[in-house]
Amino acid sequence: FDDRDGFIWLNGEMVPWRDTKLHMLSHALHYASAVFEGERVYLNHIFKLREHTDRLIKSAKILDFEVPYSADELDQATRDVVTKNGIVDGYVRPIAWRGSEMMGVSAQQSKINVAIAAWEWPAYFTPEARMKGLRMAISDWARPAPNTAPTDSKAAGLYMICTLSKHKAEREGFDDALMLDYRGYVAEATGANIFFLMEDGKLHTPKPDCFLDGITRRTVIDLARANGYEIVERHIKPEEMAGASEAFLTGTAVEVTPIQSIGDYRFTPATCCKTLMEAYDAEVRKAGRTAQAAE
Ligand code: PMP
Repeated sequence: FDDRDGFIWLNGEMVPWRDTKLHMLSHALHYASAVFEGERVYLNHIFKLREHTDRLIKSAKILDFEVPYSADELDQATRDVVTKNGIVDGYVRPIAWRGSEMMGVSAQQSKINVAIAAWEWPAYFTPEARMKGLRMAISDWARPAPNTAPTDSKAAGLYMICTLSKHKAEREGFDDALMLDYRGYVAEATGANIFFLMEDGKLHTPKPDCFLDGITRRTVIDLARANGYEIVERHIKPEEMAGASEAFLTGTAVEVTPIQSIGDYRFTPATCCKTLMEAYDAEVRKAGRTAQAAE
């Protein structure tokens, strides 16, 4: 991924893609003092940019460091990167991290670096292909308790167990893994939130008290309500998945993606998945078109 043309915004400057190097003594590499974001570009427009920027700043605060740019500066830098690289439908990856000025657990005076990369990433699967649904395993790794890890931060360190879970699932032929939380309740996938259409006709989704309350999750909750679905946020036991007819993931990258199975639990992606996939697609494109009209 590093050997390609293009520009990455690094600490206030546009730097050729190949030249954005990291020193091996970077604190972030050794001690995971890094927070990041994942954003999507639709029709040249970054969907919910300010919410992502605000979350990056908040994630850093939770990890005890200040991003040295304002939200306005970060938003402008993000738009500049998208324009500079000519991205129409793509993905944006901002990251903030402690540099290599100090080595050791304590690195109070280390420099805080910020970089923003963006690349073209058009929709990969047709809606018909996505309606087949993901096959998911259940991970042995649990989402940690809020007093075990900074669970409200989109912190790089929290992704260690996500990569382990996802690699194991992929080796066993699955698409992704469901992670339970430290109490044994259903939490989320390795990079997305989860919803179930239960027997009561309502959409149930885990209460985000030890994992990210995703920006897509909140968007989909609004869209579901607008489409007549009642939302129930609560603690969900894994065995309750037997009572769900449909299930889907939400996230910036996966958007709304139906699920076919989680372990031995089976679901049939149908009206609910289709309605919300289409509603989400319309919402992100509407935002893009509105922005274009305003320019
Ligand atoms: N959980 C995890 C672990 C994630 O990585 C993501 C993606 N950022 C999400 C949930 C969904 O968050 P969002 O909708 O804000 O992308």
